Amino acid sequence: MEITLVILKPSAVQRGIMGEVISRFEKKGIQIVGMKMVELTDEILSEHYSHLAEKSFFGRIKDAMRVSPVVVMALKGLDVINVVRKLAGVTNGRDAQPGTIRGDYSMSVQENIIHASDSPQSAEAELKRFFSENEIFNYSHHLLPYLYAND
Ligand code: GDP
Ligand code: MG
Repeated sequence: MEITLVILKPSAVQRGIMGEVISRFEKKGIQIVGMKMVELTDEILSEHYSHLAEKSFFGRIKDAMRVSPVVVMALKGLDVINVVRKLAGVTNGRDAQPGTIRGDYSMSVQENIIHASDSPQSAEAELKRFFSENEIFNYSHHLLPYLYAND
């Protein structure tokens, strides 16, 4: 089992589609093991988006993440890091496949509804960045046998 970090960005909060996005994860069979609303600081965003520090839009994406609070989520499942990246779709909402979250809800590269960790290394670092240990819960998921059978 893996855990991945998802952020419902201000584009999800402001447009009132948090519930729809969360519902997609639940219906897929992904377990929510952590969730809270937070206001992000420029400092934490500089760390989170450090791979984009040289880009001309670095300041803009950090500001866009501070327009409203965001919802940070810890999601658990088999191969969940990959699965959630696929559910999210590619970065640019205009290129993202219909059926994906970005493909269905976004027309923008910047305002693309969610962040999702892209590797086990980044999931580990990002979960630590946004959650303390006691905010991630270990509880049994009663549907497990129906979700995974003998996988
Ligand atoms: P992701 O992993 O698919 O979210 O994409 P990246 O890690 O490459 O970029 C992080 C976030 O920066 C994206 O989700 C977008 O919100 C934003 N972003 C990426 N590329 C661009 C761009 O060319 N212009 C703008 N304005 N924002 C971008
Ligand atoms: Mg990324």
